[in-house]
Amino acid sequence: MKYYQTVLLRSSAPILTYASPLDLEIGKLVQVPLKSTTKEAVVLKAVAKPDFETENIANVCDAVYLPYQMQIAKFISEYYFSSFSEAISLFLPYRRSGCPHPDNEEDGQDMVNVGVGTPRPTLSSFQQQAYEQLLQKERALLFGVTGAGKTEIFISLMAKMLEEGKSSIFLMPEISLTPQMEKRLKAYFGDAVAMWHSKITKKKKEEILEAIEAGRVRIVAGARSALFTPLSDLGLIVVDEEHDDSYKAMTRPRYHARDVAVLMGQKVGAKVVLASATPSATSFHKYDVVKLANAYVPTRKKYRFIGGDTINAPIIYALREHFEEGGQSLLFLPTRGNFKYLYCQNCGVTHTCPYCSVGMALHRKHRHLKCHYCNYTEAIRDTCVHCGHTPLSSERIGTQEAIEIITEAIEGIKVEQFDRDSITTANKLVKALKRFESGESHLLLGTQMLSKGHDYPNITLSVIMGLDHIIGMADYRARERAVSLLFQIAGRSGRTKEAEVLIQTADPSQYEPYLGDYEKFLKDELLFLEMAHYPPFTSLARILIAHKDEAKASKITLDTVAKLKQFKDIQIVGHGKAPVERIANKYRFTILLRAESRVPLLKALHSVDGREIEVDMDPVEFS
Ligand SMILES: [Zn+2]
Ligand SMILES: [Zn+2]
Repeated sequence: MKYYQTVLLRSSAPILTYASPLDLEIGKLVQVPLKSTTKEAVVLKAVAKPDFETENIANVCDAVYLPYQMQIAKFISEYYFSSFSEAISLFLPYRRSGCPHPDNEEDGQDMVNVGVGTPRPTLSSFQQQAYEQLLQKERALLFGVTGAGKTEIFISLMAKMLEEGKSSIFLMPEISLTPQMEKRLKAYFGDAVAMWHSKITKKKKEEILEAIEAGRVRIVAGARSALFTPLSDLGLIVVDEEHDDSYKAMTRPRYHARDVAVLMGQKVGAKVVLASATPSATSFHKYDVVKLANAYVPTRKKYRFIGGDTINAPIIYALREHFEEGGQSLLFLPTRGNFKYLYCQNCGVTHTCPYCSVGMALHRKHRHLKCHYCNYTEAIRDTCVHCGHTPLSSERIGTQEAIEIITEAIEGIKVEQFDRDSITTANKLVKALKRFESGESHLLLGTQMLSKGHDYPNITLSVIMGLDHIIGMADYRARERAVSLLFQIAGRSGRTKEAEVLIQTADPSQYEPYLGDYEKFLKDELLFLEMAHYPPFTSLARILIAHKDEAKASKITLDTVAKLKQFKDIQIVGHGKAPVERIANKYRFTILLRAESRVPLLKALHSVDGREIEVDMDPVEFS
């Protein structure tokens, strides 16, 4: 008899030891008895006969987690503070030990129509240049404005991989909302490409997995979970819109798909291409940049700044003018967040924490303003510290209200509501876009969803509202979010015609220097981040404590803080009640930590990690 330590999939059970007469490799998927049922488990290692009773492994499956999957799962569990079970459960194992299907072992490569048969897009000289530079690099950031043709470059890279017998993973945020991309990929790769995201059915997933095993599917495009599909001979991982926060998982394991993609590329020797028109300051700082000049769409945009923070006369006037001339418009209103901030309508500045450089949130119940990073509080104020203007405002207009005002003011205008309340399915999205494309509706009015990769050829006017509210949020990346949104929304217009971009802000100086030059913004922003001690120059982590008993939650927080204080090379930025004080009947507390690098931070966190706390490394969300 042989003995194996195993870990159950999707479980918090500890490591369990079972017996088997067979020689089992590490990573082998097995079924083991537990109480009265059988559970799926992974073989961790062989061990000597233990001095306690063991049961036998019930069944050895025809599937295995490859060494790179086991290594990355180990990294995820240690770096993002999850159990190994939670981390390995992200992955899909290789069936038939990762070998090609026996039926086509000899001529498996013919199945994917490789070689001369793969059609390729024609690249402009700018695209060709970027493509050739990317071929030279193991990993790089492809930086090119919206409409510059990054997709053709990805397709060319994937086609090259196919010809070399290698597979590719193409990650996109919100894949279920990008039917246009699916069409384009299918046009080039046919059945060799599969779309993979949470909205596809279980049956469809099984079919795709079978096709991956048989070598028919060699390109998987999808949301962050596509990263964990069992493609063999992986040659390329593309992370499109790499700045998007949906790459960070909001539940355990709280991994960041972009960062895991880079690690996976290193482990399996695959090229990693991150791409964006508005790259994150972090990636711009960390990776080699390949620039893609705007090749064939000379965007002609006229920017104009207007004041106020409601649907006011200049907005109505511009919308009416473009509507009457037969143009189409887009109006952006940011999602109303969990919190309100005190905002000066005169100078556009939000009241910020003196210690953290982030907006202080309004807590009317407690009659105070609070910093969600360090928990510094002060009385609600009425006067702007910058210009003396009074009173300060905290109200913001919602999508519904905006639509009512516009349809009342402009006779005959049809408004398409484009936000999470109205676009709940892919079908509704396709219909809304169709109505807009056909000219049936004239104005696309929505939230952050507008910035996600859709092409609208006829837009002659973009109105961007509420940026000052985004810039004032309790988030060290608030400026990055606001300027990135401005670029993303402005980039949706003027694809084919001259377009006007109306930016509503009380402080144009925040945006004016950067119009048309995101790189200039990134360089300035990196100076700010370095001065204010934020990533990528430091490492951040957040601890969450939730308990039904408020006193108990508070005690766990204080005990943890006391233990963390022994570590001199980390800084406790703040601790106390979480911005959202209660969820699902549990009282929530947080601790925010910072260190010069990740090593001391991880060391301190592992010393306090346990059942009662949850660690979020490199947090992107602070509520
Ligand atoms: Zn002011
Ligand atoms: Zn603060």
